Amino acid sequence: MTVARLRAGRGVHGRIRSVRGLDRECLPSVTEYFGPLFGRLRFNSGSWAQVRCVFHDDHHASLSIHRERGAFRCFARGVCGGDVIAFEMSKSDSDFKRAVRDLGAWV
Ligand SMILES: [Zn+2]
Repeated sequence: MTVARLRAGRGVHGRIRSVRGLDRECLPSVTEYFGPLFGRLRFNSGSWAQVRCVFHDDHHASLSIHRERGAFRCFARGVCGGDVIAFEMSKSDSDFKRAVRDLGAWV
């Protein structure tokens, strides 16, 4: 669902349309956003951190998070997305606008 919604925001040539209301400068950083959820993230040499997944009852570290973009993928359930907005949408089951507002980046 998340990926489809993000793709819907792209223009005909694959460029991301400017989305009225979103100021990416106001988004929390990867560390700021994920810190309260997972504590201090330990990134490997490929810039990915493995943590216990919040999308299911995870007993291993099935969820990978990227240091720079906040992209994420759960290798157990296939939940994935490209940034903190996509993560917030998946976590709180909210739409794009709601998620951006909750992240304090809707202007
Ligand atoms: Zn998972």
